[in-house]
Amino acid sequence: MTDTHDVVIAGAGPAGGQAARDLASRGYDVVVLETESEDEFPSRSNKSTAGTFPSTMASFGIPDDVVMNFTDDVILESPNHHYRRHQPGAVLEFADFKNWLVDEAVADGAEYRFDARVSKPIMDGDEIVGVTYNGDEEVYADIVIDATGPAAPLAKALDVCGLRREKQAIGIEFEYENVDVDAEGYADLTDSMMLRLDHDIAPGGYSWIFHTGADTAKVGVCYLQNESHRANSKSGFTIDDYLQYWVDTDPRFADAKKLEGKQHRGSAHVQLPDKMSTDNFMAIGDTVPTVDPLWGEGIDKCMRSGRVAAATADRSLTDSDRDTSAGELAVYDQLWQDRVAPKVNKRLFMTEMLYRASNDRYDALVSDLHKHSKDKLDSVNAGNLRDMLGMLKLEDVSILAKTARDWVRN
Ligand SMILES: Cc1cc2nc3c(=O)[nH]c(=O)nc-3n(C[C@H](O)[C@H](O)[C@H](O)COP(=O)(O)OP(=O)(O)OC[C@H]3O[C@@H](n4cnc5c(N)ncnc54)[C@H](O)[C@@H]3O)c2cc1C
Repeated sequence: MTDTHDVVIAGAGPAGGQAARDLASRGYDVVVLETESEDEFPSRSNKSTAGTFPSTMASFGIPDDVVMNFTDDVILESPNHHYRRHQPGAVLEFADFKNWLVDEAVADGAEYRFDARVSKPIMDGDEIVGVTYNGDEEVYADIVIDATGPAAPLAKALDVCGLRREKQAIGIEFEYENVDVDAEGYADLTDSMMLRLDHDIAPGGYSWIFHTGADTAKVGVCYLQNESHRANSKSGFTIDDYLQYWVDTDPRFADAKKLEGKQHRGSAHVQLPDKMSTDNFMAIGDTVPTVDPLWGEGIDKCMRSGRVAAATADRSLTDSDRDTSAGELAVYDQLWQDRVAPKVNKRLFMTEMLYRASNDRYDALVSDLHKHSKDKLDSVNAGNLRDMLGMLKLEDVSILAKTARDWVRN
C-alpha cells in the first residue's frame, strides 16, 4: 500500500510547523518530515535569536513559557550614537518554541517523522506527487510543501524560488553571561533588543545584543557578502572572527563568558522570489525567501507564510475535484504578496541602500532619528518611499543612483 496523505510538509521550522498546525486543526491528514532526530530536536536548526513582538505572540497563540525575556524597547546603535524607541517585544527560547509548535500540531492530529531527510521530489510527468526521503523511502500527497529553509531540496529541483548564492546572508550568535548591559557611555540595554549598524563589526550587515535577563544576552553578527562587505572587510576574517573581535573590543563584554552549547548560526536569502508555487506544490518560509530583508525578522513572516499556504491548501482540497493545479495554488503567491511581505520591493531597495552607507552616515542617520515623529519612522519602516526619500541627504544621492542602477540591472 502506498503511503499517501493530503499534505506532506518537509521541515519543522516556524513555517512548516505553523502550516501543519493550521492544516491538522482543519482535519487534514498531514505528515511533517524533519531531518533532525526527535531527541535532539532542534540541534543544527536551533539557529535563531528569536526576538519577536506582541502581535506575533497574539496572532499565533505563542505561550509565555517559551519566552526567555520580555523586552520594553528597541535600540538602534551606530558607532557613536543610539536611538531608543519604546516597542514591547519578547526574546524566545527558539528550541522551546520549535518544540511547542510540534506539540501543537501533533495534538491537532498531524504526524511528525523525525530522522527523515527529504532529498527529492517524486514526479509524475511534470508534476510533483510525493517526496523521497532517507534515500529510498517514499511518501505521496495531493500537495507537497517545502519548508526546509534555505536548503530547499524540492523548490530547487522544481525550479521554484530561484535562490541566489550571492544574496545569501549569514548569521552567527552566542549567548553570554556577565554582560554589562548598562555600561558607561552606552545605551542601557536592560530589557531591550539592540541592533547596531557598524561596518567595523558587521561589514555590509548589522550586529545585535538582545537582553535575556539579569547579566545574560544573545550577541550576534550577520551580513551579506556584498560589495559593501568586501569594501569594509578585514582580511581573512570569518563571521566567527567578527563576533570574537566585537566581544574582544567592546567594554560591555570585558567580563563576558560564553554559555556552553549556546551558539546559533544560519542563513537566509535577501532577494525577491521568482515564484512560490507550481502544480501540487508550495514553498514557504525561508525557502521562498520570506525573512524581512531589513532587520531579519523571520519568525512572524515565516509563520504567516505557513498560514496562507494552509488556507490555500484548504481552498484547493475542499473543492469536490481537489484541484491542486498551479493555477489554483497561485492564490498562495498572491496572499504572500498581500499579507506576508507587502512592499517587499521597497524594503529590499531600502536594505540595499542602508548597507551601502558609511559608518559616518550611520552616525548621522541614528542621530537624526530623534528629529522625526513616530508616525514618520513607522511609515519609512513600512516602506513608504516618499517619507524615506524625505530623510535622504545630498550625500546619499550617489548611493541611491548606484542602488537604482543595480536594481534595474538585476
Ligand atoms: C542567526 C539568526 C538570528 C535570527 N534572529 C531572528 C530574530 O531575532 N527574530 C526573527 O523573527 N527571526 C530571526 N531569524 C530568522 C528566523 O529564524 C528564520 O527566518 C526562520 O527560522 C525561518 O523559518 P523556516 O521555517 O522557514 O525555516 P527554518 O527555521 O530554517 O526551518 C527549516 C526546518 O527544516 C529542516 N530541514 C532542513 N533540510 C531538511 C531536509 N532536507 N529534510 C527535512 N527537513 C529538513 C530543518 O532541520 C529545520 O527544522 C534569525 C535567523 C538567524 C540565522
